[in-house]
Amino acid sequence: MVVTRGGPRPEGSALGVDIGGTNIKWVHRAGTAVLARGTLPTPAAGPAQVAATIAEMADERTVEAIGVALPGHLTRDLRSTTTVPNIDGDWQGFPLADTLEHATAKPVLLMNDARAFASAELALGSARGHTDVVFMTMGTGIGGAIALDGRVLRGPGDRIGEIGHMTADPGGEPCGCGARGCLETVAGGRALAAVWSRSLASRGTGSQGRSLTPEDLVRAARSGDATARGILGSVGMVVGTVLGSVLAQLGVSTVVVGGGVAPAFDMMRPAVESALRDRRSLIGPVTLLAAELGPYAGATGAALHTTAQPLAVPSTSQLSVN
Ligand SMILES: [Zn+2]
Repeated sequence: MVVTRGGPRPEGSALGVDIGGTNIKWVHRAGTAVLARGTLPTPAAGPAQVAATIAEMADERTVEAIGVALPGHLTRDLRSTTTVPNIDGDWQGFPLADTLEHATAKPVLLMNDARAFASAELALGSARGHTDVVFMTMGTGIGGAIALDGRVLRGPGDRIGEIGHMTADPGGEPCGCGARGCLETVAGGRALAAVWSRSLASRGTGSQGRSLTPEDLVRAARSGDATARGILGSVGMVVGTVLGSVLAQLGVSTVVVGGGVAPAFDMMRPAVESALRDRRSLIGPVTLLAAELGPYAGATGAALHTTAQPLAVPSTSQLSVN
């Protein structure tokens, strides 16, 4: 028997979990209240162990539902994972929702982490009060999401809004998705660290054996290094050009930027705005907003998602996992 609740449960208690390549962030919410939150290392042994870790967390708390955000795509029914490139283990076809429901007897909803981030920023963060927004998350890679008419679009397999995989440099560097020259091969955190590393090597200064991060590039630009500023300026032009295409296509004029490498975006901002101005006759003035909710936005969005709609509570007859 499946018990379907009558509608959204804005006061519902939910565990929201955001699985990253390094850490799992979690938030326990009840309505508008955050009861607890925390971070733990992502188990390296693959999806079954990640599921067991989440089930343990849910057992320790009183929750009605579990929302899980992850950096990848889902099957069309949004119950299993397909491509999850940056977390250890074989995630292709893993029945994460069924496994977790079996372990916890709670309803479980999965979503892409960029869509979860967007849901949280739309409900509680910098996009509050806006209806039509493009979201971009800058981390190791670049994620994205689109909200139209006040709703974050998901589509088959939760794939709408992958701005990071729009072509920015035809024939350019290989991307984790299998293509070449995607925006994240130019402007993702890994790409920024690589270009800065090459730049230092060409100057003969090197990195003294330390692996460089995008923050090193941003720090150099802030301290006035002309090459670092030049790199962020030219990357910003590329970001602005791709964003301009997205805005032209959608007729949207608000962009929210977040993610761990968002400080690099701040340094690119004049170049991004310059590229957007070049398209102004079509897209009009563009409002660029910084995300407000910080590193727990994804977990928050995953939790909110479970309370925003009716949920089918799993019954024991449903809980067979192949
Ligand atoms: Zn790609």
